[in-house]
Amino acid sequence: MPKFPFSEATPIQYPGPPPKSSDVVIIGGGVIGVTTALFLARRNISVTMVEKGRIAAEQSSRNWGWIRKQGRDADELPIVIEASRHWRQLAEECGEDIGLQQTGVTYLASTDDKMAGFEKFMKVAAAHKIDTRLLNARETADLIKGMSRSFKGAMTTPSDMRAEPWVAVPALARLAARKGVKIVENCAARTLEISAGRVSGVWTEAGYIETSSVLLAGGAWSSLFLRRHGVSIPQLSVRSTAAATEPLPEIHAGAAAGEHIAFRRRQDGGYTLAPGGSHLLYLGPDAFRHATKYLPALMADPFGSRYSPAAPAGYPDGWSTPRQWTPESQSPFERMRVLDPAPERSRVRSIERNFRRLFPQIESVRLKASWAGMIDAMPDVVPVVDRVQAIIGLVVATGMSGHGFGIGPGIGRVVSDLIQGNEIGHDLSRFRLSRFSDGSAIRPGPAL
Ligand SMILES: Cc1cc2nc3c(=O)[nH]c(=O)nc-3n(C[C@H](O)[C@H](O)[C@H](O)COP(=O)(O)OP(=O)(O)OC[C@H]3O[C@@H](n4cnc5c(N)ncnc54)[C@H](O)[C@@H]3O)c2cc1C
Repeated sequence: MPKFPFSEATPIQYPGPPPKSSDVVIIGGGVIGVTTALFLARRNISVTMVEKGRIAAEQSSRNWGWIRKQGRDADELPIVIEASRHWRQLAEECGEDIGLQQTGVTYLASTDDKMAGFEKFMKVAAAHKIDTRLLNARETADLIKGMSRSFKGAMTTPSDMRAEPWVAVPALARLAARKGVKIVENCAARTLEISAGRVSGVWTEAGYIETSSVLLAGGAWSSLFLRRHGVSIPQLSVRSTAAATEPLPEIHAGAAAGEHIAFRRRQDGGYTLAPGGSHLLYLGPDAFRHATKYLPALMADPFGSRYSPAAPAGYPDGWSTPRQWTPESQSPFERMRVLDPAPERSRVRSIERNFRRLFPQIESVRLKASWAGMIDAMPDVVPVVDRVQAIIGLVVATGMSGHGFGIGPGIGRVVSDLIQGNEIGHDLSRFRLSRFSDGSAIRPGPAL
């Protein structure tokens, strides 16, 4: 098991060179790229996946590992229900222990307002026949024993799952490679070659790949790549800090979140912890460009973000990050192989403090790691999954807005059919690219 978090120092598992041509080229080796590749490979389509750094080194290994239906946007729910089936099957098929367990997800409520929000979701849950239920204060205390304080109640979904992201996504990539997907790490896609409005190839730092079909699954980098090709999406990224404890006695087998702390049992017996509350947004040119689109989300959750005047150099929305480059010149993608933000020290301290406060009976809580990730967010907190009308042959699946791990294999299946022109089986209109330009009102889904 390589050292976590993954970085540029992580050994390359999939060296190049890329092939000269491929039916489909996938840009980005996170959970979305990897699972799409798997579904395409099942249809014997030749797939090349280029990853500028290492497989899963950005969000897809750094997340909390929650696979939840609970609290989802109503239009995402059918896809995440499908994803849960795929997770089980892929866990079997890959033949590795990815830590997949059905141990439930629970949200804790301190106020009546919060409970009222949960009640709204109960209607969505009932419409989709999922096992979400509300708990009163006593039932909440019975579900998660030993909490030092009482809660008004909770919302819980016993069928929700967890997995170990930094194990799972690389394991799925190995499965994809066994099925014939050509994966190339340390290989940034610089630009698309477009002829008469159609994709005809991808220029990578390691050469040209002829193709008529490209998926952009670049996470926090997608908007920068698209902008270079004249396509604007209002995607921003926010820094989110997490930590892992040394093994502890089991206090709860599943995942749970209150306003000050989120925790999830890990396969190694520890807990992955994260602070409740806000994320840190670096203000760059895109943040100003798209500010008005974020107003509805800001009004719905005014304390959801804190701000910092500038991103570190080389970040997707950095002030000095180049917006233009040629196929021959170094692109911002290869300049930053792995987006590896430092965890916020104050957040790590509050994580530890709040977890101890909630479970004072645990004698010693020792953190063995802390890290951060840049979450790629959209103004309405749901992704873009669509064909780009202006560039025939280009599909985009990005902006998973902090909940793309759990839904990943569902999106992967959907996108593989979108690429093939097959029936999708779900209504994707909520995720269309044009929603930000066709005069539609921004309708924020549940907050991150
Ligand atoms: C701290 C944290 C906690 C989270 N918790 C959860 C959770 O519990 N449950 C959940 O469902 N989701 C969670 N998420 C969100 C989830 O991790 C993401 O939504 C998901 O991993 C996004 O996957 P992706 O494949 O779209 O993007 P990424 O995993 O970011 O992958 C994109 C990849 O594209 C590569 N790339 C970009 N541009 C190029 C280029 N030009 N050429 C080549 N490669 C390129 C990048 O290097 C990167 O590896 C969390 C995220 C964070 C950061």
